[in-house]
Amino acid sequence: GLSSRLQNVFSKLRGKGKVSEDDVSEAMREVRLALLEADVNFKVVKDFIAKVKEKAVGKEVMDSFTPGMVIIDIVNKELTDLMGGSQSKLARATKPPTVIMMVGLQGAGKTTTSGKLAKMLQKQNHRPLLVAGDIYRPAAIKQLQVLGEQIKVPVFSLGDQTSPVEIAKAGLQHGKDNGHDYVIIDTAGRLHVDEELMEELRQIHSHVNPDEVLLVVDSMTGQDAVNVADHFNKQLELTGVVLTKLDGDTRGGAALSVKAVTGCPIKFATLGEKLDALEPFHPERMASRILGMGDMLSLIEKAQSNIDTEKAKEMERKMRNAEFTFDDFLEQMDQVKKLGPIDQILDMLPGMGKMKQMKDIKVDDKQMGRIEAIVQSMTTDEKQSPEIINHNRRKRIALGSGTSLAEVNRLIKQFDEMRRMMKQFSDMMGPKGGKNKAM
Ligand code: GDP
Ligand code: MG
Repeated sequence: GLSSRLQNVFSKLRGKGKVSEDDVSEAMREVRLALLEADVNFKVVKDFIAKVKEKAVGKEVMDSFTPGMVIIDIVNKELTDLMGGSQSKLARATKPPTVIMMVGLQGAGKTTTSGKLAKMLQKQNHRPLLVAGDIYRPAAIKQLQVLGEQIKVPVFSLGDQTSPVEIAKAGLQHGKDNGHDYVIIDTAGRLHVDEELMEELRQIHSHVNPDEVLLVVDSMTGQDAVNVADHFNKQLELTGVVLTKLDGDTRGGAALSVKAVTGCPIKFATLGEKLDALEPFHPERMASRILGMGDMLSLIEKAQSNIDTEKAKEMERKMRNAEFTFDDFLEQMDQVKKLGPIDQILDMLPGMGKMKQMKDIKVDDKQMGRIEAIVQSMTTDEKQSPEIINHNRRKRIALGSGTSLAEVNRLIKQFDEMRRMMKQFSDMMGPKGGKNKAM
């Protein structure tokens, strides 16, 4: 994928003490290919590379101590900008209810996202109302009602014999009358953009005057998603985009081009069919994730909302200072297990993405058990100062944990790598990362 290709380019640069213009050119050639392969819009790629190159061949970069890191930082910043710079929040009406209209093609994820959004708002102590505005797709109303029941959010419906415009109007009124502060209108989609659909959406729009018009696009469709977004935006004045199915085998191109092509910010991403698989979209985190630096911040945030806040904070501090020990590692694994499917979590941890890709290590919950056994077979000193674990100690640990020397070696190597990456990450991001000031 995009991520692993870019990681390869950058692991070559990272170690270099000096970077020549040729090095930069070669890296940029590979970045360009990686982006095109990820189905990023051609023009977006061209502009992107030009911008990065302009900054990367500057004198400050060449003269810096860690030119490779500086270039990665430039790419990181440009990727972030490309996706909108900072997080774009959901609009809020000065006078409630805030009206959110969901639009998009059939199957993009409008109805499920409506449910996810309602759940998120409810968790924030709001009182959302869902409005069933898709009268065309068989069972679309039922689908929303089932979602509503699951999350205990009321669903307003007038059946499928009333026009969507009337339903939207009545739904909004119902929301006002019943003290709802958010009204989420689910609408119908078509298999392709067509004029009839657009006209109906324009009608709904003019009657309910939404604060948000969120276009829901399927990130798996790559360039098509971007074309659809462009088309809808010209017809409807979107306020934001929701990228769905980022959990799937997407090549990432949609995330990288949507904002650049439409000017419309990505506000949310969805990463699964479950109702809590909705996340505010953070361009800077997405960029880090693409660059393989992991998404520690997302993970920490998730940890904070799901588990022990104090522990998570302490973990964050340790990660930033690279004081991470095997004890922390174990504890983190414990917490990680509570967070959800191990595959998804590993993607967010620096270094772990790579671990997952290694053919000979299959990281699943069973594998986690073996890793735990290894760490538990270490002495307190060894856990705190992994550098003292020499060959004899490794043999002892392997015996004690019922694993092999190779497994122990591999884990320690991965751990070192992880620590190193954390250190790099905090150098780049932390307040002491002053070496990049030249830019
Ligand atoms: P709509 O036609 O736009 O309303 O689309 P739906 O909400 O009915 O979703 C279409 C299909 O995509 C359903 O099977 C959803 O479960 C699935 N889906 C929606 N969002 C996601 C996501 O983030 N990840 C995955 N894997 N599937 C999703
Ligand atoms: Mg639907």
